[in-house]
Amino acid sequence: MATLRRFILYLFRWQLSTPILWLVVRQLGAGIWSTVLANLIGGSIFFWVDRFIFTSAAVEMWHMKEGTCDNCGAKGHLWRLVLAPNYDRREEEAKFFCLKCSKAKTAELRAKGIRIRGRGR
Ligand SMILES: [Zn+2]
Repeated sequence: MATLRRFILYLFRWQLSTPILWLVVRQLGAGIWSTVLANLIGGSIFFWVDRFIFTSAAVEMWHMKEGTCDNCGAKGHLWRLVLAPNYDRREEEAKFFCLKCSKAKTAELRAKGIRIRGRGR
């Protein structure tokens, strides 16, 4: 169900580019509805391509910000691991940790068998 919702949202986002694309392809004689259809087809293909890329072992996504650690209350640079192989927190509540808490958390995840290379570049 979450996948279906994500798929529909993805197709909707692709449609946001339809007016701009249409300005270009109408010079070639394409109508607005065939442009909408082309973006539906393109979105349907690239949804699965993106899904493959984001679930492959190569991808690790970190979010960073300044603020207060959600674990210990320390202020400064904070990190949040969003995505790693077999680890997906994109739809969870965002929890940001200071360096010390983040290291403890990644050590805990590594102990559970999640392959994490390191904090964001
Ligand atoms: Zn902390």
